Amino acid sequence: MDMTPAATAKDLRLAVHSGTVADDPDVVASYSRDRASSAPVGAAAAVVRAGCVDDVADVIRYAHAHRVPVVPRGAGTGEAGGAAAVDGAIVLALGGMDRIVELDTEDQVAVVEPGVINAELSAAVRSDGLRYAPDPGSHEISTLGGNIATNAGGFRCAKYGPTRDAVLGLEVVTGEGRRLRVGRRALKGVAGYDLTSLFTGSEGTLGVIVGATVRLTPLPAGPEVTTVAFFPSFGAATAAVSATLRRGVVPSVCEIVDEATLASIDEWKGTDYTDAGRALVLLQFDTDAERGQAAVEAALRAAGAGEVLSTSDPAEARMLMDIRRLALPAAERHGQVLVEDVVVPRSKLGAMVAETERIAEHTGVRIFTVGHAADGNLHPTLVYPRGLAQPPAEVEEAAERIFRFALGCGGTLTGEHGIGTVKRRFLREELGTDGLDYHRRVKAVFDPAGIMNPGKVI
Ligand SMILES: Cc1cc2nc3c(=O)[nH]c(=O)nc-3n(C[C@H](O)[C@H](O)[C@H](O)COP(=O)(O)OP(=O)(O)OC[C@H]3O[C@@H](n4cnc5c(N)ncnc54)[C@H](O)[C@@H]3O)c2cc1C
Repeated sequence: MDMTPAATAKDLRLAVHSGTVADDPDVVASYSRDRASSAPVGAAAAVVRAGCVDDVADVIRYAHAHRVPVVPRGAGTGEAGGAAAVDGAIVLALGGMDRIVELDTEDQVAVVEPGVINAELSAAVRSDGLRYAPDPGSHEISTLGGNIATNAGGFRCAKYGPTRDAVLGLEVVTGEGRRLRVGRRALKGVAGYDLTSLFTGSEGTLGVIVGATVRLTPLPAGPEVTTVAFFPSFGAATAAVSATLRRGVVPSVCEIVDEATLASIDEWKGTDYTDAGRALVLLQFDTDAERGQAAVEAALRAAGAGEVLSTSDPAEARMLMDIRRLALPAAERHGQVLVEDVVVPRSKLGAMVAETERIAEHTGVRIFTVGHAADGNLHPTLVYPRGLAQPPAEVEEAAERIFRFALGCGGTLTGEHGIGTVKRRFLREELGTDGLDYHRRVKAVFDPAGIMNPGKVI
């Protein structure tokens, strides 16, 4: 059988219901990468831009019958190489399936197609006093399908949890081409295995998410209060977070920023944050905000904070949140970046931070670290010279030492970005041989021909 890219594209044009099929090399290349600059990128045969569920089912049935790999793709903002093409694959682009199918403000749920942009769902329900809580830093550009497939986190995870906590039910096309509904529309339910959670975070390796029923959350009743506190060291900042949260304080956002990042922002924007301290804690409160504020500030000061500022003015709050939002571009000013994503139990944050500093010193790699502190999720961001196709050996070594230390603390390789290709070789260290074996068996149930995003995750 002719399996050249041209033949695959020709077959797909006959097989696919209404979506468009492209095999122009420039178009294919533009759909072949995500944001993980170190991820290997294969030569895909074709791109199918799906317009409806039937298109997806047509593609998967064709791919299953002909043993052709399929790489599902949302907006390609992933940091793990999950949406990077593999040789001979059909890249299945879901961005065009972007309808909000239903908004139910009484039950506070939305039914969406996978290509809806995260921020657009919140915008659509704002006038009803609701929002979609999971808010990855990419919320203005990433798709809900991609967010669900990676179980994306975000700033508001501190209070509302990751994407999984907002997903009630899914419609998927499995690797066999079967349409399957999992989960429910009701807010709770325990019938059967939790296949909704299984597909959430499966990084396109079990099937394609073609629809989702998600939970909406009431907007805060009053103004949010944003507090920043400066500390003499990053270790002191992490200890202060633990001490403050132990007092029962429940922030919706709880971020930390290290000195290297603050210095880079100062240099870039002409600010003077490093005069105030060598690390920053940023908290946001969306309920009972002002009532608890004095106690929060007192807790931060008791934990060693120097300057502490609070505001309920939205413009000022945006300015303070920008310190955190500028962290990634501030690191990128110094070269290419490898964004890491480890999580440790919160009590181990201090040890993780100290070890990261030791690793930076030992390997000579410049590391900028920020994190979602309430979850123990750190993003050590390793910088290396521009123009290199792969991170140099010392960056790989630093990253590996960071992973191993996190695992040794009872943590994980990834809190939100996923395994993709970039962390695949370490997964056995976290799951163990039996764990990995069961993962492979689970995949075989939904994707017996192994066509779904092969070479990713497991
Ligand atoms: C500036 C910036 C900030 C970011 N901030 C965060 C953050 O705060 N938190 C966070 O978690 N991530 C963050 N990310 C990473 C990224 O945005 C998330 O992983 C996001 O969820 C990916 O969505 P996407 O639509 O771009 O998916 P893609 O990158 O296209 O795909 C991601 C994975 O999901 C699979 N996939 C996509 N759609 C489907 C589908 N419909 N069915 C099955 N599988 C599918 C792909 O195969 C791939 O494995 C950030 C990225 C950037 C560039």
